[in-house]
Amino acid sequence: MVPGARLIVLGKQGAGKGTQCVRLSHRYVIPHISTGDMLRAEVKSRTPLGLEARRYLDAGDLIPDAIVLAMVAARLDRDDTRTRGFVLDGFPRTVAQADSLDELLKPVEIDLVLDLVVPTSMVLERLLSRRVCEDCGAIYSTSAPPKLNWTCDICGGEVLQREDDTEEAIRNRLELYDSSTAPLVARYAALGKLVEVPGAGNPDEVTKELFAVIDAYQHGGEFFPPTLPSKERPAVSGGPAVSGGPVASGGPFDTVERT
Ligand code: AMP
Repeated sequence: MVPGARLIVLGKQGAGKGTQCVRLSHRYVIPHISTGDMLRAEVKSRTPLGLEARRYLDAGDLIPDAIVLAMVAARLDRDDTRTRGFVLDGFPRTVAQADSLDELLKPVEIDLVLDLVVPTSMVLERLLSRRVCEDCGAIYSTSAPPKLNWTCDICGGEVLQREDDTEEAIRNRLELYDSSTAPLVARYAALGKLVEVPGAGNPDEVTKELFAVIDAYQHGGEFFPPTLPSKERPAVSGGPAVSGGPVASGGPFDTVERT
């Protein structure tokens, strides 16, 4: 049987988290828990939570912790996450959320925190060109559209620009990432759980690298790849493991399967 895992994927918006999390979910047979997807589903279904969440999402602001935590706690309480683990995408996003997650998980812990490192200039470009299937969440881009008329190749849904992928909301989200989410890198590094993976290259290369890191962890944690200095990344204490696999440049970003 494939061993499960409890994973967090960090990275700026547009770093490719959604894409990579789907692939990790398939390979390790673990549920992909995306708080952004869960919130968008609530908005679409016009639930009370969705109506409350909508103005935060449209502005690119963070939803209050209490709302997100209640949602995540309910999801982590299900059998699949208890028996297999999970890959968390978009959560935790603040140190307070990370502290609450630790409490929720006790007596078990997160296995690995994978940080997809991509320069801000690149994620801005990616987010502005990103297009998403409103039904299944499959990700495309203006340079890699679906085959037919902005109709999703996977489910036939309409492929649109996300409402929070406007330039103003994107800038807001990236600023929030730096102020609220980036401190998680140092937090998990200090716990010895962080692995940085270059996320700027071809998505298949990034996936390969992520699989290598997780497989190595699962097979006894003997192998952690060599250090790759990152210009964007401030030095963190506690000896983070940093992945230095090959990075192919210029690869497509958004030709992505999501289920
Ligand atoms: P994402 O799809 O992860 O980019 O999330 C889209 C939006 O959902 C964010 O801009 C926030 O408004 C909201 N959101 C998602 N996850 C969280 C979280 N962990 N805490 C607060 N707000 C969140």
